Amino acid sequence: MGTNGTNVNLAMRRTDSVAARVIMFVTCVALAIGVVAVFLILGAVRHKAQSQAASQALEVIEAFRPIAAQALAEGDLRSLDAAAKALAASPLVISITVYDLQHRPLTHAGKTPLPEGPPVWVPTGSAALVTVGEAGANSRVMIAHEGTTVGMISFVFNSRSLFSPNVLSFLPIILILLATVGLAVPLAQMFANRLVSPLQELLRVAQEVSGQRLNARAEITTRDEFSVLGDAMNDMIGRMDAAMRRVQELAFMDPLTALPNQERFIRDVRDMVSRGADTPLSAIVIVNMDRLPKIVDALGEEAGQELIVQASERLQAAVAHVDKLVRTEICVEHPTQVARLKPTEFGLLVPLFTHSSEAARFGQMLVSALNQPFDWREHKLTLGAGFGVAIAPHDGTDADTLMRNAHLAASAARGSQPSLRFFTRSLDKQALEQLSMERELRAGIEQNQFRAYFQPKVDLKTGEIFGAEALARWIRPDGPQIGPARFIPAAEELGLVGQISDAVMRDAAWKAAAWAREGTAIQVAVNVSPLQFRDDRFGQRMLKLLEQAGLPAFCLELEITESIAMEDPARALRLIQPLRERGVRIAIDDFGCGHSSLAALTRLPFDVLKIDRGFVQGLPTDRSGCAIVETIITMSRALDFEVVAEGIETVEQADFLRQAGATYGQGFLFGAATPPAEFIQQIRRGSITAA
Ligand code: C2E
Ligand code: CA
Ligand code: CA
Repeated sequence: MGTNGTNVNLAMRRTDSVAARVIMFVTCVALAIGVVAVFLILGAVRHKAQSQAASQALEVIEAFRPIAAQALAEGDLRSLDAAAKALAASPLVISITVYDLQHRPLTHAGKTPLPEGPPVWVPTGSAALVTVGEAGANSRVMIAHEGTTVGMISFVFNSRSLFSPNVLSFLPIILILLATVGLAVPLAQMFANRLVSPLQELLRVAQEVSGQRLNARAEITTRDEFSVLGDAMNDMIGRMDAAMRRVQELAFMDPLTALPNQERFIRDVRDMVSRGADTPLSAIVIVNMDRLPKIVDALGEEAGQELIVQASERLQAAVAHVDKLVRTEICVEHPTQVARLKPTEFGLLVPLFTHSSEAARFGQMLVSALNQPFDWREHKLTLGAGFGVAIAPHDGTDADTLMRNAHLAASAARGSQPSLRFFTRSLDKQALEQLSMERELRAGIEQNQFRAYFQPKVDLKTGEIFGAEALARWIRPDGPQIGPARFIPAAEELGLVGQISDAVMRDAAWKAAAWAREGTAIQVAVNVSPLQFRDDRFGQRMLKLLEQAGLPAFCLELEITESIAMEDPARALRLIQPLRERGVRIAIDDFGCGHSSLAALTRLPFDVLKIDRGFVQGLPTDRSGCAIVETIITMSRALDFEVVAEGIETVEQADFLRQAGATYGQGFLFGAATPPAEFIQQIRRGSITAA
């Protein structure tokens, strides 16, 4: 709608308008009528003037004729001459000549000399002869006295005064005509304007609509077809307006919960910020329902959506309840707005606080209201929501900053107790640190700074090193080496842990292959990250690694944590089986940390169970720890798994484990992870022996 093309067409030039054309037409018609009228009038006037002049001429003739007859009869040529001269003075008369019967001129008076030669005589039996020539209109009449012809008079009349009317005499008519035309044009204009004004109104409305102003309405009261057209147009625009509003509504609404969506929320925050000066404090709260995705996944699509709707309703009810308690009267006119920002993330906009302690009270009450367990279908559920709060204008004077800071607070609230965090400058600092961490991690990956260090695994009976676990170290050229505890969480969050693990695995496999070629074949265990294991080509990638490094398959052991393996046991089986068939050993890492039972684990094909450091720590004094470790070892032996106890730091721990039947151990007692060169020297020296 409202393309440029439409606009250009609608913006008609004035001269093209219907009114201009009507005026032009009326003017032309008026002018044509005027011209025809002038000609008709001229003709009539001319005709009238001619007949006037002719009757004047006749008067002259009739006046002179008796005088001439009398004068000729009496032979009084002097009076004849005088009378002729007197009449010839009239502008109508050019000349008067009187002839006797012998055709001799007796008298001649006038403005022209006597014509030469004999006159043209009036035919016998006729009284008069009229000819019109160059010189004028010649009228010849016979003179009779008492019934006897005595002569002839030749009058020459001024044919111009006879035939040309006096122009000035037409002036009034011409003026009237001009006035008529002059009046006709504005009248035509008025009429045309009245005629086209509804059209112009329609055009104006069409232009407004094409300029996206859908509140424009045509006002036409002519009660004719234009009115009907105007009403139809108004109706059409009204429907368009309603449809556009609906589209806008949908664009700003979350379809599942019918709450405002993220775009709308950000808009509202922007509006709130722009009103800034007259509002004291406002809070932007990000509510993360982190546990929801897992529950939704487990429930399936339909039930999951129902749960999200339920969660949003619980949130709205809790907000309304807390609003009433904390914000009392103000919440009637300015209630807290709830929006759904992401599938399991909601936003609250709490306007008009007088003090930030009020916001804190609001947040705390909301947390306790929302974290109450509730019954849903046959389940008892807790939403486990985390809240991040940013307060305007302290924590930002624009919508983007406020949203970012509320999100930072919400991330900090994740997994913490209580699950409500307010934005602080230190969170901002942490975020900046994370940003620079990301840059550095990427640079580290590119520059191959992630390397494998090797921690020995020993036979608890003989003390001999039979293998090693490769552990990641970040070797920075300008600083100390960094352990995984400091970079793995960030790398996991940034999705970089897969690349780092790949690099460490490659490094470990290449070193182990080199040692094997030099005659010291050692079993090297590498840690598999969740990201690596989620890749469907995991198996092929591991085989390719072996091939490229030239490492015998029996030298490689993959440590997969219990939680990753049990995420989808059928899939894990699919990925692991081909590798085992090639001779790669599989170890279940951190056993005991997850919640799976050993019985459930036995469905997976694996070779080694690594007892988590947490169980070893309390040995041999912690009674229940001892019982658990003994049970794990006994069951493993029965099921034919090898057991590696992790984190052995003391001789007592090693003794206990040996007596309980564990065959292998790993821990600071035997050695921490060391660089490859140091590690292989240790082995070749055979320097590690059991305590
Ligand atoms: P993990 O697989 O359980 O590795 C054993 C951790 O325990 C190592 O910490 C090791 O240094 C530490 N440790 C060994 N003996 C003792 C001991 O006697 N006492 C104590 N207190 N600790 C001991 P590290 O190297 O800091 O690694 C921490 C975790 O980082 C590892 O736990 C593993 O989950 C992960 N990790 C290390 N390297 C990689 C890697 O290349 N890829 C992946 N995906 N994860 C890795
Ligand atoms: Ca491990
Ligand atoms: Ca472990």
